Amino acid sequence: MALQYIDQFDFSGKSVIARFDFNVPLDKKDSNLISDTTRIDEALPTIQYLLEGGAKRLVLMSHLGRPKGKPEPKYSLLPVAKYLAEKLSEEVVLTESATDSGIKTLINLNTKIILLENLRFHPEETSNDQDFCKTLASYAEVYVNDAFGTAHRKHASTYGIVRYFKNKAFGGFLLKKEIQALEKIVKKPAHPFMALMGGAKISDKIKIIESLLSEVDFLLIGGAMAYPFLKARGHSVGKSLCANEDVSLAKMIIALPIAKKILLPIDHIGSTGPESLPMAIESVDIDPDKMGLDIGPKTIAMYKEKLKFAKTILWNGPMGLFENQNFAKGTMEMAHTLADLNGAFTVVGGGDSVSAVHTAGVADKISHISTGGGASLEFIEHGSLPGIDALKFGIST
Ligand code: AMP
Repeated sequence: MALQYIDQFDFSGKSVIARFDFNVPLDKKDSNLISDTTRIDEALPTIQYLLEGGAKRLVLMSHLGRPKGKPEPKYSLLPVAKYLAEKLSEEVVLTESATDSGIKTLINLNTKIILLENLRFHPEETSNDQDFCKTLASYAEVYVNDAFGTAHRKHASTYGIVRYFKNKAFGGFLLKKEIQALEKIVKKPAHPFMALMGGAKISDKIKIIESLLSEVDFLLIGGAMAYPFLKARGHSVGKSLCANEDVSLAKMIIALPIAKKILLPIDHIGSTGPESLPMAIESVDIDPDKMGLDIGPKTIAMYKEKLKFAKTILWNGPMGLFENQNFAKGTMEMAHTLADLNGAFTVVGGGDSVSAVHTAGVADKISHISTGGGASLEFIEHGSLPGIDALKFGIST
C-alpha cells in the first residue's frame, strides 16, 4: 500500500493530531533557550500547510530529551511552544501534561493550536501503552506523522496511535523529504557507493555495518568506532575508547569475505587524555599510555583520495572527539571533502556529523541532511521504519 501524504487529503474543518520531532538541543546553562531550532524549522511547512488548508484544530506532540517517564521541568516543551508561537504568529497553548483533563476544555473552547507537554513524561509513551494511545487519539479526527527522527521507534505517538486512524493517517512533508532522499540509497545507489562511519556508539552501529557492507563499494571507518576494528586486526589501541564486546563484534565482521571493503585509519591524532595536548601518532599502533582522538593526516589524505571517486556517499558519525578543536580536523576535512564533490549524491545523518557540516559552513553543499541519525541508518538497513509501515499498512493488533 502506498503511503498517503498530507497533500493528498482535504483538512478543512478537521481536527488533527500531529507528531513532530521537536527534540531540540537546549542551552546547557539556560534550558529556556533552544540552541539549534533546525528540527522545529523543518516541521513548519507541515504545520503551515495544515493551517492554510483550514484545519479546525492542531494538537501537536513531541518528546524532548530523555526524561525518565516522569515530569522534569528542564525537559518542558515550553521553549518550543514559545518559538512556534513566534514563527506561526498564532497562540500556541502548552498543556500541563499529555493526558491532562484541561485538554478537553481547550478542545471545547475551540483552541486552535495545542501543544501537548513532553510525551516522555509518561512511561506509557515508550511502552506503547494502548490506553495512552487511545487517550491521544481521542483529541482529533486525523493523524499526521512528521517525526522522521523517531519513526524507528514503536512508541505510542509514532506507532500504536495509528490503530485509531484507519485511512486517516498521513505522512508530513519532512517525512516525505527524508523517505524520498533515503530511498535513492536503498533502491539504486549510483556506484561507487561509499559509507563513512564514525562516532562512539559502536555497538548500535556495528549491526548495520554488516548490511551496509554488502551494498557499498567501500566503508571508511573513523572516530572511536575504528579502535575495535584495529584491535580485532591485532593492532594495539592504547587507552582509546574500545569496549571488549565491540572487539568481539568487529572480529565477526572482519572474518567476512566482504570485509575487504573496510578501510581503517593508518595514523591518528591522540593524547594522553581527552583534555591533554594533541600529539601526532604516526603509526597504526597506539602506545599503551596514549589514546586516539582523531584520524591523522595520512588517513585524511587516504580517505579523501578514495571519496573523490564516489557517486553516492553516506556519512554518519564524527571522525574524532570533534567538540574539542584539537581533535576536530579529521571531521572538518571530511565535511569539506563531501561538499567539494561534484555530481555525487551525499547524505549526512546523525546529530554530530550534521552539526560538523554546519560548523564547516558547507550544509548547502550536501544533497540531503537527515534529521534522524539512528532513523536514517535503520531506514537504509531495512528499507522502511515501523512508524512509516504503520502509516502504510495500519496496525491490526
Ligand atoms: P555517536 O553518537 O555514536 O555518533 O558518537 C559521537 C561522539 O563520539 C562525539 O561526542 C565524539 O566526540 C565521540 N568520538 C568520536 N571519536 C572519538 C574518539 N576517538 N575518542 C573519543 N570520543 C570520540
